[in-house]
Amino acid sequence: MKDIAQTLNEKAKNLAADYLRTEGELLLLLIEMRRQRVFPVLNYSGIFDYCERALKLSRAQAYYFKSVAEKSEEVPEIKEAVLQGELTLSQARRIVPVVTKANHEQWIKKAKTLPQKDLEREVTAINPKAKVKEKIRPLSLKVSELRAVVDRETEENLRALQDLLSQKLGKAATVADVIAWAAKVTRQKFDPVKRAERSRSVSLGKSPKMGRHPIPLSVKHPVVKRDDWRCTYVSEDGRRCEEKRWLALHHVREVARGGLNTVDNLRILCRSHHKLVHASS
Ligand SMILES: [Zn+2]
Ligand SMILES: [Zn+2]
Repeated sequence: MKDIAQTLNEKAKNLAADYLRTEGELLLLLIEMRRQRVFPVLNYSGIFDYCERALKLSRAQAYYFKSVAEKSEEVPEIKEAVLQGELTLSQARRIVPVVTKANHEQWIKKAKTLPQKDLEREVTAINPKAKVKEKIRPLSLKVSELRAVVDRETEENLRALQDLLSQKLGKAATVADVIAWAAKVTRQKFDPVKRAERSRSVSLGKSPKMGRHPIPLSVKHPVVKRDDWRCTYVSEDGRRCEEKRWLALHHVREVARGGLNTVDNLRILCRSHHKLVHASS
């Protein structure tokens, strides 16, 4: 029996060592893929999206790789520590909210030596926001639970809105009512598609001039509506990019080559696909 215990113990330890080594190697590979701008070519928005959809890792795991990889740009010692097996990915991601170029030695040492609870307590003491991970968790088909950390000023703003909304409704408004109200009003005001739908700007019938000029709203709004304010890049397998952030209007035929500010000559691209399209034209 003792022999079996020894053998199985050895085997488990070896596998765990392989597992940690693989974790470090995967981290390094993901950083390299990001540096070489591989994700936009494959039509993934970044490390998180790639880990989750292509590598089938859990959301939590994908998030760890993303946050440690991003932090490693500023503090390369973190990825070194993971690669050398000094830190596990899970230890490394715990110090991401506080580690800097100046204090990395101290934090890497703490991550290596302190029990998880103590480490979390020390990180939270420096950066209270690190304790609560922001999330929206579905409770049923119709409602979700929202969790976020806000500062004093935001809390005061929410309380003031709560008073205003209660007055407006003639009954006590909850914080959830306030968030619903503020989100709706703000979205109506800032959402580019909604703005474009509301827009009354009409083309003055002037034909667009050659050369670089600001894009008039009468041209921009139809483009925003047509492309639904989302990147229009389509990869070889026919998938359209999901990105709705970091978007820009791109001239299909470049301005320098006589391209005009017309609806047909403009399309929406995200930052990484915009770079990709320019690099390959
Ligand atoms: Zn462009
Ligand atoms: Zn894109």
